[in-house]
Amino acid sequence: MLIAIRGAISAEADTPEEIRSAVRELMDEISQRNHLLEKDIVCILLSNTNDIHSLYPAKAVREAGFARAALFSSAEPEIVGALPLCIRMMILVESAEAPKHVYLRKAAGLRKDRVLFSVALDGPSGSGKSTAAKQLAKELDILYLDTGAMYRACAIQALRAGLHDFTEENVSPLLKNLNLHVVYENGAQRTILDGEDISEMIRQPEVSMAASHISALRCVREKMVEMQRKIASECSCVLDGRDIGTIVLPHADCKFFITASVEVRARRRFDELKTKGFDVSFDVVKREIEERDHNDATRTVSPLRRAEDAEWIDTSDMSVEQVVALLKQKIQEKI
Ligand code: C5P
Repeated sequence: MLIAIRGAISAEADTPEEIRSAVRELMDEISQRNHLLEKDIVCILLSNTNDIHSLYPAKAVREAGFARAALFSSAEPEIVGALPLCIRMMILVESAEAPKHVYLRKAAGLRKDRVLFSVALDGPSGSGKSTAAKQLAKELDILYLDTGAMYRACAIQALRAGLHDFTEENVSPLLKNLNLHVVYENGAQRTILDGEDISEMIRQPEVSMAASHISALRCVREKMVEMQRKIASECSCVLDGRDIGTIVLPHADCKFFITASVEVRARRRFDELKTKGFDVSFDVVKREIEERDHNDATRTVSPLRRAEDAEWIDTSDMSVEQVVALLKQKIQEKI
């Protein structure tokens, strides 16, 4: 898809050297943060405050090595109180990633709100990642996307169609009519299937097991990953799942792999189900967790694994508050 990356920087003085240096710094930072390849750039649009006379910023972009992209450059009107010597740009790029907007030097104060970042939290069932992700997103005031809920919704669609044995052949046609929406109500994610709110229903243990099976299908993963990337491209967000750091957002700003011992994870899931009124036994919950771990880790498409650059966090002996505080500290150190 076509994405728009915004950027701005201020120059120290109106000299060709200074304009060149500011433009190069901005282009380098945008390229690095967005993993830009010159061939993917469709065009670069620039504007500058009209106190710049020494060099066209567009010329400086060419000199910085962007030889192929179409360029358009214009001077802005004189606005009282505008940041002086400011160069702004918008780069249109073919990319599957969320744009990372870059505001440098004095321009850093212009659009802090639009500097997007993403956090990937992966890990096995019951590791506490969803609870931590939800709280973390709230504290950072960014979106939380529970990707497991989307696989659970697919499972409901298949169960409602009367399927018990999930194969590419029988599930793929169902995905064509999948009417799945993720919406936010008072900051909480609601999962809507065919107009019905299924947010509670998807937590039933039989749906968990069905989700574990259906999520191994390539057709399901392709569809879900596409939806997840689209949601993540529009705002700063925390995504949790099994393949966020490896497949969905391989260039996420911060990646964590959250885990805990099977015993602890089973206990947490058991307590959660009990609180919700489900009549379950600890041993069954534990066995199901082990079975889902096995399914997630051994499937051929996007198996659960830690991304090489993800930080490993064992939450066995940590409270939710401690996990959130640790994640927040690490994120703030990085962005
Ligand atoms: O995280 P949660 O337990 O709600 O996920 C339900 C199921 O969906 C998991 O058992 C897992 O197999 C699958 N899943 C996945 N990839 C994700 C999120 C969940 O395969 N990103």
